[in-house]
Amino acid sequence: MIRKSVTIHSSLLFDPKKKAFVKSVSIRVDLQSGSIVDVYERASDDEIRDGDIDLRGKVVMPGLVDAHTHIFLHPYGERISTEQFRDESIIERTVRATNHVRDALLAGYTTYRDLGSEAMENYDANLRDCINRGLIPGPRLFVATHALASPAGYEIRSESRNQHGLVLPAASDDDDGPWGVRRAVRRRAGAGADVIKFYADYRKRVMRFPPLHPAVIGKEKAGAGIRFPPDHGEINPAVPLYTQEEMNAIVEEAKAEGMAVAAHSGTVAGALMAVRAGVTSLEHGQMLSEEVVAEMATRGTIYVPTLTVMEMGLPKKEYKEAQARLMAAYSKGVRLAAGGDTGTFPHGENAREVELMMEAGVKVEDALEACMVGGWEACGKELSGFRFGFFEKGARADVIALETDPREDPRALRKVSFVMKDGEMYKSDGVASPSDDDACERLGGRGPSQAKARGVVHESRAEDGGLGWARSRWSIGPFARPS
Ligand SMILES: [Zn+2]
Repeated sequence: MIRKSVTIHSSLLFDPKKKAFVKSVSIRVDLQSGSIVDVYERASDDEIRDGDIDLRGKVVMPGLVDAHTHIFLHPYGERISTEQFRDESIIERTVRATNHVRDALLAGYTTYRDLGSEAMENYDANLRDCINRGLIPGPRLFVATHALASPAGYEIRSESRNQHGLVLPAASDDDDGPWGVRRAVRRRAGAGADVIKFYADYRKRVMRFPPLHPAVIGKEKAGAGIRFPPDHGEINPAVPLYTQEEMNAIVEEAKAEGMAVAAHSGTVAGALMAVRAGVTSLEHGQMLSEEVVAEMATRGTIYVPTLTVMEMGLPKKEYKEAQARLMAAYSKGVRLAAGGDTGTFPHGENAREVELMMEAGVKVEDALEACMVGGWEACGKELSGFRFGFFEKGARADVIALETDPREDPRALRKVSFVMKDGEMYKSDGVASPSDDDACERLGGRGPSQAKARGVVHESRAEDGGLGWARSRWSIGPFARPS
């Protein structure tokens, strides 16, 4: 018999809307729609029925949201971004992304806001659709497709560009002028983007003193290998890519199309224009003046500090400044979301960002909330078409469980032993995708016993009007590995 619903029981649960840990809460999940139908405090004499999911003894929370990711990137430490964009095949990058999204989901990340395909056209939208169609397991993706930049603002640089030379893939949708950027937003919407990402500024002047390969110069900064490099000012400073008028047009057009807007920023001028234009979130914010912070607090602009990529790439002293910027914004009440620029470091280690936020001084409850409700808000709240990042009737049934309490164990977010997304269970007792019928029975008998040789189970849904829409219930075989 196919069960219509399942109830999850907890003894300790984090409620991000209350920013509090609460006791004895149960959650009833509708397995057809994958949404929560009831959240209630369990009476002490309530028995746990056969087929329920018992997560008592663990710490239950909503699935995590990474607000700044790149599914097609693997760590820069393995290969610098230019080489990933230029030299890796579409197939390799897609196969890697398939692994990345699985790793993220098994680490408890049920939603990704993916901010730019990084020279992979609109394939992020295609990968999102593969997940939504049940072909592979992964988080709920909200993708930007190409990020917007003004001409030559964000592209693959090469000294070998001549009239018959190398043809490089586009790394951005580049256009300018108020109508040009509106056209770019319109192209993104038509290409399947969920959110708009633009570069308010960028370190675009790298070709003035182009670096040699790291194999030649090691970890030296840009300009290494040049005799007598300039000693006044930065060798490749970030510069604004748009005017205020252009940023206003991007945000206005994105809002008209119902999309949230994220702005990359590394300068005060770029950050200020982006915030004033009304962006949903500011990414990195490597230079934030008091004025920018005050404006963000007033306007409710979300700050995604991406500490993880900074910890990785900055000297200690500069990283400390990044921590200080976060704390300055936090103390002024700026809204936070957690996203590490994941992909520049391994997918699956997403939780590093929340750990670093806590390490910088953000309260545990606030850091967790930023990785839940904050992430949902960064996706545009209702504009995203879903409710997630919190437990409430009608929200997606995204549920995870930790083995330890993050108030006591700073590494608790690395100990995810249970993952449910949209009412489907991807990890239980620390093991990915159960491949035995007993485990499937717990969720209503849909499982590998119905699987055909291909290892993915599809179940047609009557309400899809016979269009052949199917979604997998279980992924077995290659996906069944502990993580
Ligand atoms: Zn990024």
